[in-house]
Amino acid sequence: MILLKTAADLRRHLLQLASTGDSIGFVPTMGALHNGHLSLIEASKKANAVTVCSIFVNPTQFNDPKDFEKYPVTIENDIALLEKAGTDILFLPSVNEIYPNGTSHLPAYPLGYLETILEGKYRPGHFQGVCQVMDRLLTMVDADQLYMGQKDYQQCMVVQQLINYRQFKVKLLPCPTLRETDGLAMSSRNQRLNATERQQAVAVSQALTMVKNEIAAGNPAPLLQKAEQMLRDNGFKVDYVAIGSAADLRPITQWDGQQPLVTLAAAYLNEVRLIDNMLIP
Ligand code: AMP
Repeated sequence: MILLKTAADLRRHLLQLASTGDSIGFVPTMGALHNGHLSLIEASKKANAVTVCSIFVNPTQFNDPKDFEKYPVTIENDIALLEKAGTDILFLPSVNEIYPNGTSHLPAYPLGYLETILEGKYRPGHFQGVCQVMDRLLTMVDADQLYMGQKDYQQCMVVQQLINYRQFKVKLLPCPTLRETDGLAMSSRNQRLNATERQQAVAVSQALTMVKNEIAAGNPAPLLQKAEQMLRDNGFKVDYVAIGSAADLRPITQWDGQQPLVTLAAAYLNEVRLIDNMLIP
């Protein structure tokens, strides 16, 4: 694995590869890697000659400064995992490399209603930050295929909107969520849970599974209240439990029993905010 820290070095390497016509798969991450991240690397390796992974904890997407400060950093372990997984290039830029003119006058992206609901509503500015960094990274990496996790369902939609808006040639391939054996969605933030919180954390996937199993045609609101109560009973402070159209996340107030849905939750266990979602069916 080659480790590169500047966009210029990355471009030089990728230009050489482009001349041979090799396809490039790209997996952007914020590090503190787990098997969920590695499943994206694996998907990219299966379909591309070259897999590039980036690790960059993007300051502009953290609406809560404490969350940024406490974001886990395990770079040596990450490098070992990426090497073992057969990653070809690790791009490890500094903040200055991504934002050479600072972070205070970055462009705003037209995200419409997507940034007014769910994560957009509860984390103001978060998706603008995601677009700022992804715009820079996609320009620098110039990949053919982009691998991102359905774990961040709304983020996949936002990034697809960015790709359309900027007319990037890259194809976004959302990949399934990897879970621990008890059902907890793998996440870098799980490292911040103590033993008691780790046991409570499984309630998120249990609540979403309950919604998925019990939903019937009609108004899903009572079911969502039941799911919220399950989370509160396990010590969570709930931001939302919601059901939206799988295609565009528009809220569903009367389900016809047919339309593909996604149920999503975000909730705090003390200081740690967990998110998860499940497709229905
Ligand atoms: P992050 O480092 O949290 O920014 O995540 C980097 C990429 O990994 C994003 O596309 C995430 O959606 C994806 N990801 C995070 N957790 C999982 C998981 N449990 N399963 C699959 N992909 C994941």
